[in-house]
Amino acid sequence: MRLDFSTPAWEKLEQGLVPAIIQDATTKSVLMLGYMNAQALDKTLKLKKVTFFSRSKQRLWTKGEESGNFLNLVSIKNDCDKDTLLVSVNPTGPTCHKGSDTCWNEENSGRFGFFGELEKTIASRKANQDDDNSYVASLFRKGINKIAQKVGEEAVETVIEAKDDNDTLFLNESADLLFHYLILLQAKGFSLKDIEATLLERKK
Ligand code: AMP
Ligand code: ZN
Ligand code: ZN
Ligand code: ZN
Repeated sequence: MRLDFSTPAWEKLEQGLVPAIIQDATTKSVLMLGYMNAQALDKTLKLKKVTFFSRSKQRLWTKGEESGNFLNLVSIKNDCDKDTLLVSVNPTGPTCHKGSDTCWNEENSGRFGFFGELEKTIASRKANQDDDNSYVASLFRKGINKIAQKVGEEAVETVIEAKDDNDTLFLNESADLLFHYLILLQAKGFSLKDIEATLLERKK
């Protein structure tokens, strides 16, 4: 972890609290703002999960302690005059207790761009499987085996087209493969984020 970071100038901070801007490490979206005292900062560094001093609870508060939506620490930076922290995180889930990705009711799907949007559409079909007009909903109704089989077929078709030199056919089969693979991921209860985490784990 990169901790390019010096101690906040506690003496000039009111009530020993430093404002901490929480930013998604990947999308750079600002997720929320909280306050840390020296203890909260210590605990954040130890746990590698963002911990605030809650002014309403008057105690240390590890974000996610009830919801499970933790803010996993990536790095902390102090600003130019050491009175504001920029905390870079990988959020486990939506950050706001009202359910949205950020406390300003914004989406944080920039992560996977178009594919993030596509995943959301697929997730909504999974949640509304009786939609007769949806091909994706019909696949979810047929179940995992059928979806996995489709992925297999599209993979074989992609392999076949890879050996040819018709770029259009290759791209079309690749798109089919990726699309059905995203459906399979969701059917298994996973998403691109989990694949990313698995790949990142290997980099260590
Ligand atoms: P959590 O830390 O996510 O388990 O949430 C525990 C409690 O902290 C919630 O019931 C809210 O009262 C409060 N809370 C959680 N997230 C936020 C947030 N982003 N901003 C302000 N309060 C929050
Ligand atoms: Zn400052
Ligand atoms: Zn909020
Ligand atoms: Zn195909």
